[in-house]
Amino acid sequence: MPIRSRPKPGSPRPAEALPPAAIADPRGVSEALEAWFPAAARDLPWRRHRSGYGALVSELMLQQTQVGRVIGAFARFMERFPTPCALAEASEHEVLAAWQGLGYYRRARLLHGAARAVRDLHGGTVPATAAELQALPGIGRYTAGAIASIVHGERVPIVDGNVLRVVSRLAAHPARAGSPPDERWAWREASRLVEAADRPGVLNEGLMELGATVCTPAAPKCGSCPLRAQCRARAAGSAADIPRPRRAAPRRAVHWHALVDIGPGGVALERRPARGLWAGMLQPPTVEADAPVEAGGLERSWGVAIREVGAFTHVTSHRDVHFRVFVPAAAAARPDADGVLRVPAEQLASQPLSNAAWRVLEAARVPVRTPPSASAGRAGRSAPTGS
Ligand code: SF4
Repeated sequence: MPIRSRPKPGSPRPAEALPPAAIADPRGVSEALEAWFPAAARDLPWRRHRSGYGALVSELMLQQTQVGRVIGAFARFMERFPTPCALAEASEHEVLAAWQGLGYYRRARLLHGAARAVRDLHGGTVPATAAELQALPGIGRYTAGAIASIVHGERVPIVDGNVLRVVSRLAAHPARAGSPPDERWAWREASRLVEAADRPGVLNEGLMELGATVCTPAAPKCGSCPLRAQCRARAAGSAADIPRPRRAAPRRAVHWHALVDIGPGGVALERRPARGLWAGMLQPPTVEADAPVEAGGLERSWGVAIREVGAFTHVTSHRDVHFRVFVPAAAAARPDADGVLRVPAEQLASQPLSNAAWRVLEAARVPVRTPPSASAGRAGRSAPTGS
């Protein structure tokens, strides 16, 4: 059995052995936030008419997506699918098409699955409690807590990246996003705050709003923060160092080769596999490889002589996808490969095309109008934890 040496008197204990920090005054924090949020809240469409369904749609749209991009998409989506049952009855093709421009299409599938469970198990009404919500497919602790507390006032905590940043700064605890122990710590501190609150939903939404608008990752506005009196990181001058950055995930470079083929029936498109990146979306026929493929190999694969017209790199959360874009070298009628469908150019905007597929079409100068949000930048609100 290994023998541990005794630390010398006065020597520092290893960081992991130190007792975790805690928010000093949960009641003071909750009182200050509950007073601040109603006056500071941004006017956002899902806040005007609170409903479980509206909160479900907006919460899934907002994950890792900037609020500005969600505002228009939310209005269009709610007009197209005004109730959980309307969404449940829609095909996946229709739902993915309505999600265009928001990226992270897995969320659209999760929302679709949740709507079907709401129809089948709850008579078409989004349940009110966090426990029932978390039992829906694809709904995690964060989303369930947000809906249950904000719409129905249930006393349950929420932790996303914004909340983790605020609570770790309040406690001057150098948490790291993505670290399971630090995320468990943040859930515990968020629970202490919500237990101290008079209005748990206001407290939770205030935490998220503060993280999005005041206690921002870079240059927090401590001078105008309603929690400056309770904040240990501000007192210690350590806010800019908290939380510590997430450990970077290894990235992978892949090489995709796309053929933009416009014939009398429209643009040739194929459907992506049901799993993986952009699952189920449409795209121009694409050869995917770990290394660039020579033109001869592509011509054999597509059965047509080709000409390269553009190249770009599309960055996803884990991959750098290096695209090369080709068109047929000459217009020639030939049978389409199995699984290829033709879509008239004027109907492309209503199809489930990823932002990368739109960039492919743009590279080939296909004369179509890109959906309003398809070319906007990505990322924004941080990912929830525990969901
Ligand atoms: S005082 Fe500064 S660091 Fe502390 S919660 Fe407010 S904005 Fe964040």
